Amino acid sequence: MSSLVRLLGFTTLRCGCIVGKYREVATKREVAYVEEKGGICTSHWHRRNHTIMSERLGSSPIATLSSQAS
Ligand SMILES: [Zn+2]
Repeated sequence: MSSLVRLLGFTTLRCGCIVGKYREVATKREVAYVEEKGGICTSHWHRRNHTIMSERLGSSPIATLSSQAS
């Protein structure tokens, strides 16, 4: 990790992978890194210390945004 990031929390995916969610301070972008590869995980996208897109986590960022706005 070269840029400054803040830890938001950890998520365990259905495949068993543990993902750490971070906020990139410079870009305010949310990024997720695979912290621990799940034992039953067969996804090639999930590799230790690799970035995965938030959309792939199955979360709903749109709902979060709308609830914050009101
Ligand atoms: Zn996985």
